Amino acid sequence: MSIFDKTNKGYENGSFSISGKKIICPFCGHDFFEVKSVLMNTPGLTFFGLDWANRSAFAVICTKCGKIEWFQHSPEPS
Ligand SMILES: [Zn+2]
Repeated sequence: MSIFDKTNKGYENGSFSISGKKIICPFCGHDFFEVKSVLMNTPGLTFFGLDWANRSAFAVICTKCGKIEWFQHSPEPS
């Protein structure tokens, strides 16, 4: 289940949590993010060569400082 199953926007804004823990930017401490679902099988990423290369990952981008965190599981709105 993904937050993107219900939308075709391709991104979501807001506060999110993973496994019940709220995501806080490790750089600036901000808690408002833009989340994008990104396919990991693009040519530029095949060098990873991992078994999850054909899946989506989630880029969680801090709206204040721009730091990007990657998650394999879908963040949940919090
Ligand atoms: Zn930040």
